Amino acid sequence: MSCPEAWLRRQARRTPDETALICEGRTVTFAALDHQIDGLAQTLLDQELAPARPLGCVTAHAETLVRLALAGPRAGIPLLPANPKLTQEQIEALFAKAGVVSVLCDDGKADPAIGRRIGLPETLPRDAPQRAADPASVHLIIATSGSTGTPKGAMLTGANLAAAVRASRQRLPIGPGDVWLGCLPTYHIGGLSVMFRCLEAGAGMRLHPRFDLPTVAADIEAGLVTHVSLVPAMLAQLLDAGCRPSPRLRCALIGGAGLPAALAEKAAAAGWPICPSYGMSEVGSQAATCVRIEDWHPGMAGEPLPGLEIGTSPAGRIRVRGPSLMAGYVNPELRPGDGLTEDGWFETNDLGGLDPSGLLRVLGRADDLLISGGENVHPATVEDIAGHCPGVSAIGITGRPDPTWGDLLVAVVVGTVEETNFLDWCRAHVPSHQRPRAMVKAAALPMNKGGKLDRAALREMAALLTGC
Ligand code: ATP
Ligand code: MG
Repeated sequence: MSCPEAWLRRQARRTPDETALICEGRTVTFAALDHQIDGLAQTLLDQELAPARPLGCVTAHAETLVRLALAGPRAGIPLLPANPKLTQEQIEALFAKAGVVSVLCDDGKADPAIGRRIGLPETLPRDAPQRAADPASVHLIIATSGSTGTPKGAMLTGANLAAAVRASRQRLPIGPGDVWLGCLPTYHIGGLSVMFRCLEAGAGMRLHPRFDLPTVAADIEAGLVTHVSLVPAMLAQLLDAGCRPSPRLRCALIGGAGLPAALAEKAAAAGWPICPSYGMSEVGSQAATCVRIEDWHPGMAGEPLPGLEIGTSPAGRIRVRGPSLMAGYVNPELRPGDGLTEDGWFETNDLGGLDPSGLLRVLGRADDLLISGGENVHPATVEDIAGHCPGVSAIGITGRPDPTWGDLLVAVVVGTVEETNFLDWCRAHVPSHQRPRAMVKAAALPMNKGGKLDRAALREMAALLTGC
């Protein structure tokens, strides 16, 4: 068994002088990073934190979280990063459920009234003894995005993380000399897992403190990176800004939400080596990934990662089972269907399953399903079609209560198209039962704190704008 901090130790022996991390103009070698993580682990131990109790973190400082995710487990302390955009009540509830008794916060950030405050000194002990994490213990508690309500805390052991990273590498080759650009928040698994993959492969991570469009575009265009992880909204911004990847870029891993068809086509045409992916906090990032964009079609997320089984529950929900699957949630009061079953499956809240050729199709969240004229309509499917209408740059489909239709389909559009032209286009291109019957314009689509389309807010927006 192995785990991310052990990979760092191994790499510090194998290639001590190679670059492990580049952040804000600083370059850190594997040997230096390993030494610093020892010092940070010792600092955590010096604080006499309760062993095995998670350290709660409320910071948007990407590098601090990456370092703590390695040092915490090395000191026997799991890390629980909270999205600093959550409300104080949400953070407190999450921390209370996880049994947090020590908290590290940025100055001026929500300071939860729970646990003992700790701070980190500027200088770390130089002669810290070497320690090793237990891969069987919980290393990370990842708060889900909270798309369906309050974030849940998914407990990932070192062994879960190791399985997730090894499976990822079999699908997306990476090795020494490669550099993975990380610009996703490191309080989510999508951001942290970039560092883990690089450590396992002996590659370097180019960590951006946040998604800053011009600097991310410049690194990709200049050929400074071979891999990048993005959510679809970031890819859309890069394309709109005219960013053309250098030939050195081999993989743009797109996850966190479904990839709209029009965006995928635009990216492929502009030479982006996109790899659409489906994943979740509960499996340490990816569950399925498509590596050949030529084989991709809307709603598709590629083959399951090696070692991970994907099936469909009797209720039509995607379920997953395998070594990267979390040990469980910290939240004791979850609704049925949100947890692990006795035979080791985790039932997600997403509808879909494998097609006959073994590729995963994701229809959308069960909660988002609309029923219009007696037919089930997955809003993402309609968005994929209507997103091709000229003058539409972003689109969200939602329902408005209607005595005839049940859910009357309303399109909320960002773009230049007018309602009459849009509805005419839809009459010609969208099957009748999936056709939007009204359109409203918005300056931007509402996003939740995890950066995904907020469908509850979209519904309210449509009601407000259509005056119903
Ligand atoms: P919560 O569980 O708190 O409601 P969340 O499910 O958004 O929030 P995450 O673990 O960050 O929390 O995200 C995983 C979810 O993101 C998946 O279950 C799915 O709903 C969505 N998702 C990820 N990839 C895709 C994809 N390729 N297509 C469609 N949806 C996706
Ligand atoms: Mg979820």
